[in-house]
Amino acid sequence: MSNTVVKECPFCGKDNGCMAHEKSACWCESFPIPTELREYIPEDKKMKACVCKTCVIAFTQNKEAFLKKYVY
Ligand SMILES: [Zn+2]
Repeated sequence: MSNTVVKECPFCGKDNGCMAHEKSACWCESFPIPTELREYIPEDKKMKACVCKTCVIAFTQNKEAFLKKYVY
C-alpha cells in the first residue's frame, strides 16, 4: 500500500485536485505552496498528499484562523 496516491488534502480532507499523477501538469506546480504551510502537514502525509488550493489560499489570507481550524 506504500504507493497509494493520497488525493485528500491533509487539512480539510477534501479532494486536493492534484494532477501530479495524471498526464497533465498539476496546478500545484505553478501555484507555490508556502514552505511554512508544508511544515504543518502531518508527518505521515508529507510527500504523499498535496494541500488543496482552498487551504493554500485560506492559509495565505488568514494564517491564524487556518491554524486554529486545522492544526491546533
Ligand atoms: Zn484542503
